[in-house]
Amino acid sequence: MSRTQDWIGGKWTGADTGATFPVSNPATGEELARVPDCGAEETRRAIDAAHAAFPAWAALPALERANLLMGLYGVMMTRVEELATLLVRENGKPIREARSEIQYAADFVRWSAEEARRVYGETIPSNAPNKRHLVLRQPVGVVGAITPWNFPAAMVTRKIAPALAAGCTVVIKPAEQTPLSALALGGILDELKLPAGVVNIVTGKPAEIGRELLANPKVRKITFTGSTEVGKLLMRGAADGVKKISLELGGHAPFIVFADADIDKAVEGLIANKFRNAGQTCICTNRVYVQKEVCDAFAKKLAEKAAALVVGNGLDEKTQIGPMIEPAGLEKVRDHVEDARRLGAKVLCGGKARDGRWFEPTVLADVPEGAKILREETFGPVAPIVAFDTEQDAVRLANDTNYGLAAYFYTSNASRLFRVMEALDYGIIGANDPAPAVAQAPFGGMKESGIGREGGKWGLEEYLEVKHVSVLI
Ligand code: NAP
Repeated sequence: MSRTQDWIGGKWTGADTGATFPVSNPATGEELARVPDCGAEETRRAIDAAHAAFPAWAALPALERANLLMGLYGVMMTRVEELATLLVRENGKPIREARSEIQYAADFVRWSAEEARRVYGETIPSNAPNKRHLVLRQPVGVVGAITPWNFPAAMVTRKIAPALAAGCTVVIKPAEQTPLSALALGGILDELKLPAGVVNIVTGKPAEIGRELLANPKVRKITFTGSTEVGKLLMRGAADGVKKISLELGGHAPFIVFADADIDKAVEGLIANKFRNAGQTCICTNRVYVQKEVCDAFAKKLAEKAAALVVGNGLDEKTQIGPMIEPAGLEKVRDHVEDARRLGAKVLCGGKARDGRWFEPTVLADVPEGAKILREETFGPVAPIVAFDTEQDAVRLANDTNYGLAAYFYTSNASRLFRVMEALDYGIIGANDPAPAVAQAPFGGMKESGIGREGGKWGLEEYLEVKHVSVLI
């Protein structure tokens, strides 16, 4: 199943220069494959192919596009183990998490297949007896998609499935660390006889590929998941061609525990949320705020559970914490922990790198204001705890960031539940729920965490243009 060539215009191909770059297993350093190191020229050809394929794909009855997507869903479900294993080998996450990522990735495909047939138009009451106003919803056109390494399968399907359902064609560039899952999905689409050029996968030089996607007038929409820094660059670039854009960017999620909460459930929730993918997810907690009365008890229970998490190779069924994706990520985590420790934080468990590839699950207490970890995205398995006094303090601290992707809070007080969910400036809220993301709900951020939404009917909307037709009869 493993594909190591790019998919352009229905053909599996290398870079024009023949250049390749390595994809390695983050748990062992073993080279898994070499994939094409493409640039602007190959991207231009992929865009041409997507542009040529667009009219026929857009004109296909929605039912047929839906059938193709249901086919993809079906094959993904029969190959969960194969796809999950490939995902672990290139990304490092624990195999159990990889299986749920494949399920989550397939859920976007199924939802989009079901929704493809519900792209309805409207008629609007007219002011004049001899006029009719219609609203058509039509595919935007060629989509340029760029995805990150932390969800190598789900970030791909979260973009291509609604795009295909809407009738768009796609050029996708997966992250350099994890292109194999994207290529494997392309392989399945090829087996299912997706027409040539409807989906094109280009691996290689990010800035060159990105520039071509932005500059080429045939691309009408850019969709990106990744860092806020690159997102801003793409937004500036998209302005020149006034392209539609959606951005799913970084986060700095607060996790608030009120004294009235079920503390054991909150500890369990934080363990599940914070340490998933070794803390390398955009919606995982970056700051933990606990009400003073219960803070010590909460921190003690959390540290006990975190210290017991099994660190290892993701392919081992017992592993709960896989390796960091690369040394730079590990260094950033180490820097955040050292900085907090220097400023007076207490290390309740962990605090160190292991074998140069893993970072131990870490709980920090008494983290002072001013610590980097309370401001910058850590992307690692570290839970920094800060005590707070009142509900207003908690909300103020939680909202005091440029990010606005996900936030979590635990309470058993129903009035507080509504007050706090409304007061938090975040696109996704988990209220007593550490895992809010599902394919049918909107996923996306406020402030510098992004623009637009993926998932559910909102995700499909991003790939549609609204056209008003006024008919004089
Ligand atoms: P990144 O450096 O921004 O990379 C993401 C993608 O952008 C990769 O495919 C990368 O290519 C590409 N890229 C890099 N520079 C580019 C450029 N100049 N022009 C065009 N494309 C370019 O982010 P990352 O470190 O891989 O991913 C982690 C970030 O993603 C975190 O901030 C995380 O919070 C965010 N994220 C957000 C969501 C969400 O839904 N909001 C979900 C997952 C992750 P190369 O890999 O080839 O460099």
